[in-house]
Amino acid sequence: MADFSEIIDQGQLKEHMQNALLADKISHAYIISGEVGSGKEFVARIFAKALQCESREERDGYTEACNTCPSCIKALNDSHPDIITITHEKPGSIGVDDIRQKLRDDVVIKPYESKHKVYIIPEGEKMTPAAQNALLKTLEEPPSYIVIIILTSNINAFLQTIISRCIVLPMKPAQDDSIKKYLMEECQVVDYKAMLCASFARGNVGKALELASNERFENLKDSTIDLISKLERLEIHDIMDRLHALLAPLEEEAKTAKKGIDPKNFEDFMDILIFLFRDMLVYKATENPDHLIFTDKLSYIRSVTVNISYEKLNEIIKTMDQARNRINSNVNIDLVLELMLIAIKGYIYDKSNRR
Ligand SMILES: [Zn+2]
Repeated sequence: MADFSEIIDQGQLKEHMQNALLADKISHAYIISGEVGSGKEFVARIFAKALQCESREERDGYTEACNTCPSCIKALNDSHPDIITITHEKPGSIGVDDIRQKLRDDVVIKPYESKHKVYIIPEGEKMTPAAQNALLKTLEEPPSYIVIIILTSNINAFLQTIISRCIVLPMKPAQDDSIKKYLMEECQVVDYKAMLCASFARGNVGKALELASNERFENLKDSTIDLISKLERLEIHDIMDRLHALLAPLEEEAKTAKKGIDPKNFEDFMDILIFLFRDMLVYKATENPDHLIFTDKLSYIRSVTVNISYEKLNEIIKTMDQARNRINSNVNIDLVLELMLIAIKGYIYDKSNRR
């Protein structure tokens, strides 16, 4: 039963919606923009439910839907006749016919039973220019009862004339601490894992939830750190073989993946390495395991940090940042990874570096 009180952070956005509900000053069109996984649709549905509720109430410091009136029950069951989601036939685009049939021809029909008629358009950036122009006609002369909520991960895809007729509400990255608290309290994720997932999600609640519920990430983390700990003993071709096995895409994604490496695995792999060496820096400075992200790898972190200087740790982090930049600029991904791992091996295990 989603309510405003359950939206993590997003203070400005919540304040705007709350003020609109309290003053009963509802705009005809909103754009909620934010990356995939940031919770745009979650927020839109809470707002839509509250808009349609027959007897809103004050709860936990928010103006909330009552969750018990007939309108709320239908909204909670996703069967509210006056909360309409604009779906599209082609997966890659929202065409002019989608907007004409499901929105333009429909807005003229008054709401069945509510004060408003709410249209939610997910993946709004997929609207073709013709679809946007069709939408614009409605935005120029909206019937009094309509509220259109466009969700998008790329607001730059919209015509300026659309943006100027909408109230734009950006989703901001949530705080790590807020995400951690949410994972622990609402999803029963254990302390260290909640911290790890929150750090990796970079403010994206959807990503944090995915990481917390997903064995892929846990396995990748263990295998990555295991591989680094074996750098000293293994030849570089063995390391690359293992790395390829580690980063291989799922079978159904293999066709589109770059050079047999899954981009999602690769991103997480680089993040894991960077966080691992940051942990080493932190441990070297504080000798306090409480501040680490990989608290479960304490013995390995300790064994490396006793033998390596701050300078070398910083060099490793710099090397990894450079490697990531090179890979983003489309050079040979294998070669960059190979050079990076050889460099890390040198920094950690070359005896002349020790201090
Ligand atoms: Zn209600």
